[in-house]
Amino acid sequence: MKYHSTSNPSHQVDLKEAILRSLPPDNGLYMPNELPVLGRDFWTIWRELTFQEIGFAVAEAFFGEDVPAPELRDIVEGTLAFDAPLVTLAPGDHILELFHGPTLAFKDFGARFMARLMAHLTRGEDRLLTVLVATSGDTGGAVASAFHNVPGTRVIILYPKGKVSGLQEKQLTALGGNITALEIDGTFDDCQALVKKAFLDREVAERMNLTSANSINLSRLVPQSFYYIHSARQLPEGVKPTFVIPSGNFGNLTAGLLAKQVGLPVEHFLAATNRNDVVPEYLKKGEYTPRPSIATISNAMDVGAPSNFVRMQALFGNSWQKMRESVSGISFSDGETRAAVREVKSLFNYEIDPHGAVGWLAARNYRAAHPGSATITLETAHPAKFPDVMDAELGVGKVDIPERLAVLADQEKVATELPKDWETFRAWLGDNVI
Ligand SMILES: *Cc1c(COP(=O)(O)O)cnc(C)c1O
Repeated sequence: MKYHSTSNPSHQVDLKEAILRSLPPDNGLYMPNELPVLGRDFWTIWRELTFQEIGFAVAEAFFGEDVPAPELRDIVEGTLAFDAPLVTLAPGDHILELFHGPTLAFKDFGARFMARLMAHLTRGEDRLLTVLVATSGDTGGAVASAFHNVPGTRVIILYPKGKVSGLQEKQLTALGGNITALEIDGTFDDCQALVKKAFLDREVAERMNLTSANSINLSRLVPQSFYYIHSARQLPEGVKPTFVIPSGNFGNLTAGLLAKQVGLPVEHFLAATNRNDVVPEYLKKGEYTPRPSIATISNAMDVGAPSNFVRMQALFGNSWQKMRESVSGISFSDGETRAAVREVKSLFNYEIDPHGAVGWLAARNYRAAHPGSATITLETAHPAKFPDVMDAELGVGKVDIPERLAVLADQEKVATELPKDWETFRAWLGDNVI
């Protein structure tokens, strides 16, 4: 399969380049030349398949030409080493728990698949691969965990100082070994801009053998489509889900669009955001106005210039009208989000994290306007990752802390602080890694 840039369809590369280079030199995003569709043989039995079998079928549709089936099966099985259970709060009100992986957020799915695919694509090479990644909270932890101790790789994580939770920070800074954390005096958008600059700087990109792990990387998106199909088949036959996706960079939502593309029946997609509502505004008005991000309590969604937006547009032939037929958007304030955390607990005795709470509000809103519809709200992280909000709304100690998170509290943070300007960052790279 060949891949092209959204900015220039005649710029074509193979899978290895699309995955390892991550970003085309023209600043577009890579898309597969053909969008695969799963055939009838899949859709007649999909309800009986396991999560891993669904994952393999989708992965094969995208990557089967380039990765031999046994290796691809190993990559999928290594990725899906934990479940994504669907929890029903009330009729039609479903929550898809995506936090059962090692770092307790949905990003484990994409990061684990990507690390395994990259290891496959570079096997037998002796050059060190440098994974450069900006994180608004959960990406860095997932990527660090997925690549930790993977031979032939090193990871450099940029995160905005003071804007990730204490435990999120430990997930980035406590692993050591081949993982290096940089604490940037700026916002997530500043971190993302530095990463983009490094890629566009040919000398840096080539000397460091750079690759990206942000959700602009196609190998993170495809595995995120697995759980859309896996959750939909758990609804009664004939019920088409409306997926509600708490969104920031819109990788998760784009993965949902890929699931629909391969043939999954979907009623609608609902993009739920916090006050960083660039995409909901676009869906309402047809004007796309990226702007600096605002800090909120659902910090992993604090994105003012969502990097997957051009991919969403590409999937709808750059038509606003077409996108609106399939996707709506809605945003909520921190006050509304806090109230939802309390309400979900008191109505259902369920602890929902601030990101999932934004989604749950959107889902309730949608069901009120479309009675009888079934919403699946993606619960993108475990509530224990956000103790400040959960303790304030539910009382201290109401959320059980999973063991794999609890152990982080005692580990030491190791990070290098840097200002947000490119020259300093480039110089640091020169001194420390090139
Ligand atoms: C990353 C993240 C999001 C946003 O996902 P996108 O794919 O960037 O839209 C939402 N919730 C949590 C907990 C996250 O970590």
